[in-house]
Amino acid sequence: MSSETMIMVRFGELSTKGRNKKDFIHQLSKNIKRALKMYQNLTYEELFDHIYVSLNGEDPHAVLTRMQEISGIHSLSLVKRVPLNKEEIIHECLNQTKCAVGKTFKIIVKRANKAFPTSSDTLTREIASLILKQTDLKVDVHTPDIPIHVEIRFEAAYVFSITIKGAGGYPLGSGGKVLLMLSGGIDSPVAFHMLNKRGLTVEAIHFASPPYTNSGVIEKIADILTKMNDYQPLIRLHVIRFTELQETIYRVSDESYAITLMRRMMYRLAEEVAKKYHCLAIANGESVGQVASQTLNSIQVINAVTNYPVLRPLISFDKEEIILIAKKIGTYDISIRPYEDCCTIFTPKNPKTKPSLEKVVYYENKFDYSKLIQEALDREEIIYFKIKDNEI
Ligand code: ATP
Ligand code: MG
Repeated sequence: MSSETMIMVRFGELSTKGRNKKDFIHQLSKNIKRALKMYQNLTYEELFDHIYVSLNGEDPHAVLTRMQEISGIHSLSLVKRVPLNKEEIIHECLNQTKCAVGKTFKIIVKRANKAFPTSSDTLTREIASLILKQTDLKVDVHTPDIPIHVEIRFEAAYVFSITIKGAGGYPLGSGGKVLLMLSGGIDSPVAFHMLNKRGLTVEAIHFASPPYTNSGVIEKIADILTKMNDYQPLIRLHVIRFTELQETIYRVSDESYAITLMRRMMYRLAEEVAKKYHCLAIANGESVGQVASQTLNSIQVINAVTNYPVLRPLISFDKEEIILIAKKIGTYDISIRPYEDCCTIFTPKNPKTKPSLEKVVYYENKFDYSKLIQEALDREEIIYFKIKDNEI
C-alpha cells in the first residue's frame, strides 16, 4: 500500500485575505523552502488551502521544529497521505492508533470531497469498530488520548493524530518594508521579531556617536542582525553618525531636555532615511512608561516632528515579557553585553518625563539642526547582513 509521510501546513489568518491569498501562499511557500533548505530530500506542493511538505526520509521532528519558527503558519500536522480508497484509509488509521501512546481514541472524519462514496458517519463507525476489535483501546469522544483525524480531499485522504501550533502572523515579505530604530539594547531586536511576525520586512537604522560610543556597539548590532538573519535572510543596516547633533544638543539645551531633543532628531533622521529607501513606516522598541522618554507626554512631544506612521510593537509589554521573547529568539545574551550607547553615555540625572513643547522648540531654535541632519545623512553608512547562500 502506498502512503506518503508529509507535513500539512495550515495558514490561519491568511484565509481572510481574499484575492491576495495566492500571493501570500506563494510568499509563504518561498519562505518555507528557504528555511528548510538544509533538508535536501524534502519536496513541496502548493495547493489552494494548504502547503504540503513531503519528508522523503528526513527527520520529522527536526523539520517541524524549524517550521514552528516561520511566520504565517497557523498549525502543522504530521500526516500520511493515502489514496482515496476506504480500505487503505482504515488500515492507516489502525496503524496510527497502534503506534500512538494512550488508552482512548476518537475518530474525526472531515469529507471535503463529497464524491467520496462513504459518508463521514459510516466511515467513522467502520474505522472505530475495527480499532475496538484489534486493540485494547476504548472510545472517548471528549478527551481522547489519541485523536485520529481523517480528511478526505480531492487529491487524496490524509490521516493524522499530531497537530502543533505554528508561529502565527503573516509570511515575511508580504506586508511591505519598515525602518526600525535599532539600539544595542534588549527591546529593539524583539520589536524586529514582532514586525517580522506580521509579515513586514525590516531595515535597521542605528545612531552612533563615535568616539563616545566605540566599535563594540556596532559589533553588537552586527551580532543581533546576524541572529535576525535566521528569520529575515537579507537585512540592510543604516549607520548614522549622531555625534555632532548630540554634542550640540548638550551645548544649547538644559540637560533635562537633552534626551527629548535627541529623540526628536532621531525621528527626523529616521523619517528621511525611511523616505529615501521606500519604507512605509518607522518603528522602535518603545514601551510606554519604561523610561523618561517613553511616558505618553514624552512620546507626544517626540512624535510631533513626523507625520510618518511610527510603529511600536512593544508599547504595552512589560520588561519581563520582552526579555522572555529576547531569550526565545536568541538576542538576549547579545543585548546584555556591556556597551556604551549614545543615550546611555550622556544620560542626564533628571530627564523630563513631561517635556514642554514650547521649551523644546526654544532650544531647537538655538541651532541649525537641519544642516546637522543633512550632514549626518550625507555620511550614512550601509551594511548588509545576509545568510550565506541566500537566494532572495
Ligand atoms: P532598547 O533596549 O531597545 O535599547 P531602551 O529601553 O533602552 O530600548 P531607549 O534607549 O529609550 O529605550 O530607546 C527606545 C527605542 O529607541 C529603542 O528601542 C530603539 O528603537 C530606539 N533607539 C534608542 N537608541 C538608539 C540608537 N542609538 N540607535 C537607533 N535606535 C535607538
Ligand atoms: Mg537603549
